Amino acid sequence: MPEALDAVVVGGGPNGLAAAITLARAGRSVRVLERAAEVGGGSRSAELTLPGFVHDVCSSIHPFGRTSPFFLEAELERHGLRWIEPSAAIAHPLDDGRAVIVTRDVEATARQLGRDRDAYRRLLGPLARNFGDLLPDLLAPFHVPLGPRRALRLAWFGVNALQPATWLARRFRDEPAKALFAGVAAHSVLRLDEPISSAAGLALLASAHHDGWPFPEGGAQEIPRALAVELESLGGIIETGREVAALADLPRSRIAVFDTAPGALESVARSRLPDRYRRALRDVRYGPSVFKVDLALDGPIPWVNPDVALAGTVHLGGSFDEIAASEEAATNGIVHPRPFVLVAQHSLFDRSRAPAGKHTVWAYCHAPHGTIVDMSEAILGQIERFAPGFRERVLAMKKTTPAELEAYNPNDVGGDISGGRLDLRQLFTRPVARLDPYTTPDPRLFLCSSSTPPGGGIHGMCGWHAAHSALRRLEGRRGGTRSDS
Ligand SMILES: Cc1cc2nc3c(=O)[nH]c(=O)nc-3n(C[C@H](O)[C@H](O)[C@H](O)COP(=O)(O)OP(=O)(O)OC[C@H]3O[C@@H](n4cnc5c(N)ncnc54)[C@H](O)[C@@H]3O)c2cc1C
Repeated sequence: MPEALDAVVVGGGPNGLAAAITLARAGRSVRVLERAAEVGGGSRSAELTLPGFVHDVCSSIHPFGRTSPFFLEAELERHGLRWIEPSAAIAHPLDDGRAVIVTRDVEATARQLGRDRDAYRRLLGPLARNFGDLLPDLLAPFHVPLGPRRALRLAWFGVNALQPATWLARRFRDEPAKALFAGVAAHSVLRLDEPISSAAGLALLASAHHDGWPFPEGGAQEIPRALAVELESLGGIIETGREVAALADLPRSRIAVFDTAPGALESVARSRLPDRYRRALRDVRYGPSVFKVDLALDGPIPWVNPDVALAGTVHLGGSFDEIAASEEAATNGIVHPRPFVLVAQHSLFDRSRAPAGKHTVWAYCHAPHGTIVDMSEAILGQIERFAPGFRERVLAMKKTTPAELEAYNPNDVGGDISGGRLDLRQLFTRPVARLDPYTTPDPRLFLCSSSTPPGGGIHGMCGWHAAHSALRRLEGRRGGTRSDS
């Protein structure tokens, strides 16, 4: 009988690969089983429209891709990963032709905000300055950081982050600053009047000032490609086309780490998990879906305000109230005719994405959970609103419905791309309230997907924390999460 592996990782998304690499670095034998034909999960690229047009199927802009503790440790640049940083991270155009352009420079960003200049500096200045030190505490499960400075920094962030975006936006008097904040807060996929809807807004603005929202040259797929090279260089093994539907599908191993939806863990490991825990896995609440379009264009988007072309990401939704209404509608199961739309325009900065003179567009909006309504016209309408004549440049379009997202990757339950709603009720208890959220009642089973803290996004930190939790178990140690130490 072959010797048991130390660990098998089910699912080769960024968190599964991060877990596998962290285990392999500690000298453990690891095998990753991925159901798809390639690793990457929510970080893959493909020619979705026409030959020569490289689109990001899921993640496209990576605010924490260069700076999370896991990615800093992984040093993927050694394996050919090259980050591109657009001149500006975010552009937020308004109907009157103005646009707020967020660059690394807090002062330059604040200067565009007129009467709100000082309020913006006060809110974002200290946060941006300290963001590198704060990030490990933000990208972690609930913990009390050691040391008064770390604790104070986190407490200051927490006091602001816990507020609904509607409250925090009251610090601003005029539309440009309010609208900008609505756009970043809407990444929370919460109603903007819900507690902690400010958290995503603050963290994402600070990360824009700290690291400029970069993306990989050649496509998001470059991240898992480099992760796979790193894992294999450490002796880890990757098997693709290996869906795990039952425990019998797993090779012999001391532990198994699941980069899957909670429901998949529940279904695969039902015989080893107590009823109460299984019920909790089934009860994870999911939020609005994503409806996505990818476009091949005959030229760049003809923005009314040419400065919008300086940014990798564009937030389309106009005013604070309009964005808030769109997010409220999506949460309440209502289709909004003018949804908040996120656009990424990689090919302006990365010529490898499209043939000469042509361009790609990645865009999505939030929509009611599992909706079957076609949102593509609404998305195109929002782009046309800020860039008249844009539709004439469309050569081809690929729509992706919430159901298609889930079929592509079962972790996107009902088209929710965040691993479940990250509202106040689930903030510290998702997927199940446990001291160490990566463990399960079975000491051999762990969960590491974005349904665990710190949640969605390409940062690898769910995998990194889960791997440290698993290592403690393998080494017979006890203790809290890594960030406690
Ligand atoms: C449309 C879209 C846009 C996004 N945009 C961004 C963005 O711009 N920036 C950003 O940071 N994040 C973005 N995200 C979120 C990001 O993609 C996810 O948060 C991230 O991929 C989660 O990583 P993960 O490893 O937890 O899970 P996943 O990336 O979902 O990977 C899970 C893997 O497990 C595999 N798997 C599942 N079940 C099984 C099984 N039973 N057996 C074997 N394999 C299995 C899946 O095939 C998949 O490869 C986006 C997501 C989507 C869908």
